[in-house]
Formats: sequence, structure tokens, C-alpha cells
Amino acid sequence: MKIAIFNDHLLGIVKDNVVIDVSDAVNWIPANPSESFQNLIENFDELRGKIENSLHTGTAYPLSSVKLHSPIPATKKIWAAPVNYKNHQKEMNEMFNNAPRTIEELALFLKSPDSLSGPSEPIILPFKDRRTDHEAELGYIVGKKAKNVKAEDAKNYIFGYFALLDISIRGNEERTWRKSFDTFTPVGPWIVTSDEIEDPNDLKMTLWVNDEVRQDGSTKHLIYDCYKCFEVACNNMTLNPGDIIATGTPEGVGPIEHGDSVRIEIEQIGGFEVSVYHTVE
Ligand code: MN
Repeated sequence: MKIAIFNDHLLGIVKDNVVIDVSDAVNWIPANPSESFQNLIENFDELRGKIENSLHTGTAYPLSSVKLHSPIPATKKIWAAPVNYKNHQKEMNEMFNNAPRTIEELALFLKSPDSLSGPSEPIILPFKDRRTDHEAELGYIVGKKAKNVKAEDAKNYIFGYFALLDISIRGNEERTWRKSFDTFTPVGPWIVTSDEIEDPNDLKMTLWVNDEVRQDGSTKHLIYDCYKCFEVACNNMTLNPGDIIATGTPEGVGPIEHGDSVRIEIEQIGGFEVSVYHTVE
């Protein structure tokens, strides 16, 4: 199931180029999408049947005619994986002459939950004089409370997957500082529930800036795969429904500038395109 939030914060299911409004089936309150969303994922097993029934009766809109919002209205936690692809590790060490660092040494870092934004919102660059890069990533959202869950069991706790941009200022500050500005975590275009993703650790992923392919990778090259990231995150903090994990970016990261357009596509999920602006002066 592809779960979207669209137009006036309605709940939609995306099917064959249409979005079907299923808000009524789950008592979705468009004026309060955060609470409605939390209710949806925490009770999804029982709500799923109601959603499926309403696919025949709900109003269908052509996908091309709707405005998509972040499929996750709000979150309390964004964990992210640093240097989680070998070739990206290599490029970062070459680009910045860093001492080699690995995910095994660094583990995960947190991004501000307020950095979250949607597939129709622009990325706002806070500085004109700081290099700010795109990072294409597979993201996923937690569906069940988890603590000390092993990688081999993680699959049962993941609600669904989406495309994610981990926008990053380069420099020596902590990752949390460099990656937590407002609009620095666009996600979308919808959530694909886990049952539709046979193997999240084998998905092709491409990122374009304007018409140029910058990143062309696959999650099969992850060092800590999706499930290992889950284990590492919940060995630290309890994971709750609605928490997000960004799994890291393949090689090809590079700067974005005012006026650019950034597009990400992930196999079996889909993609979105956002524009880039400097802070309005
Ligand atoms: Mn990243």
C-alpha cells in the first residue's frame, strides 16, 4: 500500500496514477494530521481492512493533479547512518582529507525532527558561503515499539519505506548541527508499506541535480543494511511508532545551489523533485 497525504492534508492511497481519498475510513482529521497519522500507524493492522474496503468508494484524483505533503506529518526522532556505503566513505575521505572514519566507529547520529519536509516543499539553504550537499537515501519509518531488537527480527518492526534527502552542510561541526536545519530532510513521495518491499537491501537509487545524474547506487551496497541500522538504533534508544531512520548515502554527493532542482528515485518506491533556494532576504 502506498500511503500519501495530499491537498488539504487528506489521507490517500496511491494506485495506478490516482490517489484515492480514504480519510473517512480511518476517522482521519485533516486539521490534525500528526495525531491522525500516529493513530493510523499504531493501529494499522486493524485499520488496513477498512482502508481496503474504502478503495472502491473513496474519491479518486489523478496523481498529477494533487499536491503531495510529507507522508509523515511529524516525527519525534530521525536517526541517520553516516558513511554507510564503501565508495561514499572513500569519496568523503578523499574530498575532505579526513582520517578514514567508518560507521562501525561512528554508529548513528540524530537529525532534528523539525528538519522534516515534504516532496513539494523547497530546500532552503541557510548560508550562501557554506557548501551544502545532497545525499540520496532510503528512509523507513518504525511501526512498533522496539528495544534491543536484533537485525534478524527488525523486519517485523518496520512500517514502510520512502525516499529521503539528507541535506548536509560540509564542515567540522557535529553532524547534528550541519544536517538539522529546517527543510534538510525532505521525504516522500509516499510511504510504501513493508509488505510491498521484498528486499529493502536491494533497491536501485538515483539522484539528479537539474538533468545531471549525480548519484546512481543501490542499497545492496549498504555496509550496515536496513535491519542492522535498526538494531544499532534500538540498542541505544527505544524506537517508537513514527520514528524515522535514514540509512545513508551512496557515492556521488555534491553541492546544491539556489535555483537547482533535485530529483530522487528509488526502485519499487518512486520519487520526487524539489527546488533549492537561499534563505529569503
Ligand atoms: Mn546521510
